[in-house]
Amino acid sequence: MKQRSLGGGDWQAHFMRMWVPLSHPIRGYEMRSMQDFQRQIEAIYFEKDSARGLDGTFRWFIEEVGELARAIRTVHPEPSRTGDPARLREEFADCLAWLSTMASICGVELEEAVRKYADGCPKCKRAPCSCE
Ligand SMILES: [Zn+2]
Repeated sequence: MKQRSLGGGDWQAHFMRMWVPLSHPIRGYEMRSMQDFQRQIEAIYFEKDSARGLDGTFRWFIEEVGELARAIRTVHPEPSRTGDPARLREEFADCLAWLSTMASICGVELEEAVRKYADGCPKCKRAPCSCE
């Protein structure tokens, strides 16, 4: 994944993205995009997570991935019958939040990053993918 440069004007844009959202309402914030989600996660966790640093935050992320793995195991292979859909949903949200906070620490804008898939599969440019 391409990391944004923090030099010159880019740095200023990065700084603005980090701190402007702190004035947004946190409770009941209606998130409509990946960008909204990343701003919200920054408002809630950026100060704490950036102080911890990327390595420590990455370890938390991996722990959360483990929790997702356990939640998936409880619903597989028949999600509607055996599992706990609410717990599964929560674990997906937690993993995405940790991923988002790491992107923020690295200066990666997820809204821009996910455009990689805007035209379908990045390799074959199709949806569904027709790669072998
Ligand atoms: Zn493909």
